[in-house]
This record gives sequence, structure tokens and C-alpha cells, in this order.
Amino acid sequence: MGKGCHWVPRLHLAYALSRGLLPVVMVKEYAWCPTIPWIIANKLVEPPPTPSMLKGLREHRSRDVLKRVAKMMGYKRPEIEKHVVDRRRRVYGVVDILAPREQELVEVKIRATRLGRHQLAQLKVYALLAWSNGYRVKRAHIATLKGALETLEVDQRTLLEAEDLVEKTWKAVESPDPPPVCQPVEKCGYCRYARLCPNRAC
Ligand code: SF4
Repeated sequence: MGKGCHWVPRLHLAYALSRGLLPVVMVKEYAWCPTIPWIIANKLVEPPPTPSMLKGLREHRSRDVLKRVAKMMGYKRPEIEKHVVDRRRRVYGVVDILAPREQELVEVKIRATRLGRHQLAQLKVYALLAWSNGYRVKRAHIATLKGALETLEVDQRTLLEAEDLVEKTWKAVESPDPPPVCQPVEKCGYCRYARLCPNRAC
């Protein structure tokens, strides 16, 4: 890293990886670009969050917001910020809202934005984690305070896809070499990790 660089250590990820656990966010990054989890695992830094990301994070992490979404969804006795670990598959995460009675889970977003493949990948792995912790989740939602933006029906195929994503992310993380990935120039152009990326504009 050069002089004046404000990249920050990604210590919570380093800690998790050192304990042999993959945070779900790494799978989400993998689905966006497989090189990102490799960069995080090998450099253990991340770009500083943008002001809008910080704002979103602060709002998102408010338990009050999560409770309000759970209420809006009509859940009885929801579990808020439920920590779930799957030691066999070596992955863990925190589910925003787990509703055992309704057999649903929710990932909360503050704003209704266009959802990408990577967010759905994250949702699938949350569903897998829920199942491996004994919660028979049938639907997984991405929702805001105004309602569900996306609903995923959770079936055997969903869980297998999630398992595959976890395996592939671990493979990228544990490899000494970056994954052989080439992304469109435009995508690399706005990627936050471009400065550290060996695959940039390959
Ligand atoms: S710069 Fe391009 S190849 Fe590298 S992590 Fe970003 S999107 Fe992926």
C-alpha cells in the first residue's frame, strides 16, 4: 500500500478466518467477483467505507429498525440478529431476522435498491445456515421497512447452490494464487478493490 493510503485492516474477517470460519459476507463478495475474497484473505485490508455505506451500516445495524421490519412482516416471536454457525461447512453469519414460527428469514436493507446476484447468494447461504442450525426455513426475504423486495423459495436446490458457493469461496480464499477471473473493464473501473487487485483489467 502506498503512502497516504487509507485502507483499513479487516480484522474481524482475519479473526474469523484464523478460526477456520468463513463469514457470509465473503460469499457475497465472491458472487460479485471471485477475486475479492482472495484479496481480503491475502491482504487482510479493505477500502474505507464511503459515507453512504457508513450511513447505511449505522441504520441497518439498529435493532430497532430490524424489530420494526419484523413487525411489518407480521412475525410472532422473531429472533433478531441471530448468530448462526455451521462448523462442518466452516461458515457463519448473523441473520437479521429469523422467524421460526413462520419458517422465514429476512435480510434487511434500508433502501430499496436494485438487487444483484451477490445479494441473492448471501440470502441462500443464510438459508443454509438456518437449516444447519435446525430452522426449517421455507422462504428467505430481502426487505425494507416498506416490505419484501425479493423472496426466495428455499428448497433443496437452493441449499445445494448455497453449499456450492461456500465451497467455491473457501477454494478462492485458501488458494495461494488469485482465481483466474477476468471482469469487464467497466466493472473493474468502479471496483473498490481495484488498487490491490492482480486481476484488474486482465
Ligand atoms: S478490480 Fe476487477 S477483477 Fe479485481 S476484484 Fe475488482 S472487479 Fe474483480
